[in-house]
This record gives sequence, C-alpha cells and structure tokens, in this order.
Amino acid sequence: MATIVAFHAHPDDEVLLTGGTLARAAAEGHRVVIVVACDGMMRPLPEEGSPRLAELRASAAVLGVHRVEHLGYADSGHGAILHPDPPDRARFVRADTEEAAGRLAALLREENADVLIGYDPNGGYGHPDHVKVHEVGKRAAVLAGVGTMLEATMPRDVVVRLTGLIRALRIPFRYDIDALRAAYSPASAITHRVNVRRYARVKQAALARHHSQMNGRGRLAPVMRALVRMPPWAFGLVLGREWFVNPAVARPGEPAEPHAGPPPGPRVRP
Ligand SMILES: [Zn+2]
Repeated sequence: MATIVAFHAHPDDEVLLTGGTLARAAAEGHRVVIVVACDGMMRPLPEEGSPRLAELRASAAVLGVHRVEHLGYADSGHGAILHPDPPDRARFVRADTEEAAGRLAALLREENADVLIGYDPNGGYGHPDHVKVHEVGKRAAVLAGVGTMLEATMPRDVVVRLTGLIRALRIPFRYDIDALRAAYSPASAITHRVNVRRYARVKQAALARHHSQMNGRGRLAPVMRALVRMPPWAFGLVLGREWFVNPAVARPGEPAEPHAGPPPGPRVRP
C-alpha cells in the first residue's frame, strides 16, 4: 500500500481535478494526505480560522482522506494586481520557493510519501497560486526524494468540450475560453487516465461541502452549483475521469525530465 500526498493550491481544488482518484485510492487501502498551500482567504483570518479550510476538511472526510494540512499561506488572487500581504501571513506567490518546498518536504518525509500529486507547468489554467504549486511541488519531491511525481491536469480537447457544454447549458462562465484552449496539457502528454465513475457520487458530495464557493460570487460558482445539482450519473459522465502526467516518463519526441528520487514506486493505476 502506498502513501499518496496531493498538493493543491486552494480548498476546492482537491475535488475537481483529483477527488475521484483520492477517493478511489483511499477505498483501495492507500494512505491519502491533502496539503493545501493557501487557506482560500485573501484577507486576515477570523479568530476561528479560515472557513474554507473547514470546508476542505469536510470535503476530505467525504473522500476518505486521512490527513489534511495547510502550508500556511494566504491566497494571491488572480487579478491584474497582486495585493499586499495580509498582516498575519504571506501570499503564496510571494513565498520563497525553497522555503515553501522545505515545508512540504518535511511533511513528505514525515509521511514517507511514495507519490506526490502536484500541477502541470501551466498550473492548469494559469492561476498564479497554481503555477507556484507546480514549482514548489517539483522542488519538494526532489528535496524529500519522493519516487513518483504526478501532475494533475486535463487534456486540452476535454477542456474545450467541457467549456462547450457549459455554454450550451447557458451556465455563466467568465473565463477566457481562448486562453483555456492553450491551458492544461496536450492529450499526448497524459500518462495516467483514471476512471473514477464509481466514485462520482462521492466526488459530487465532496464538492457540495464547499458551500462558500458554491454560493459566493466567484467565477466558478455557477458551474459548481450546476455540478452539485446534476443527477450523479450525469456528474459521472462529465467528471468521471481524471488525468495525470508523470514528467519522468519520456513521451515520443521528448526527453524525460531528470528526477532525483529513487525508481518510480507504486503507480496510481489507470
Ligand atoms: Zn485554486
């Protein structure tokens, strides 16, 4: 049995890209840990802590995840302006990569992690905190000597089809669709396709725990509301697959990235 650590940028990111895989891994007896870089808040934290971290813990409990940790950073935002740090903590993009990677590596060593899940070099759709997750995750895997690094992503053709579906259903979608066509990963780069159809109901229930994101004014809120209201079979059709890139695996015409860890450990089975 392997220990899998999924490193995400914000609470709710764990569900859409990796929720089914984490639920499946936990159900199959692996140890599953989620680490988030940011607490989902731009502002100073209220006394009782970040409500979004509480939602993350609720979501993780639904997925069967064994442990949830926060690396200690605030959100950086995705606008044109990078706001000053709140008085109580730094924004993730301002964090020193080596220091942040050191914090993650300490957790990876403590857990004796076999697999670290991070993000592709685009950080999926380019949110600065997601790009930073790629950089910090990659460095932490080297520092801790983690055997297998997997980058959670989506094939671009699937992204294009999903945005088409969102438009056809007339769900408000305030993302730059042309930019999304060049985001995430080309299908040729994908090394793991995980069927999580059987975990669609669990994934959907975990998504529903992110109340503030569903009911807030964020760009993804209308999409999240629509997903949570779908019948589980339809949710499974839309989000019943998850994709990963193992950057250490050579793809046709591309050299494999050098990797400092020992030979690849247990794989998340496609
Ligand atoms: Zn995010």
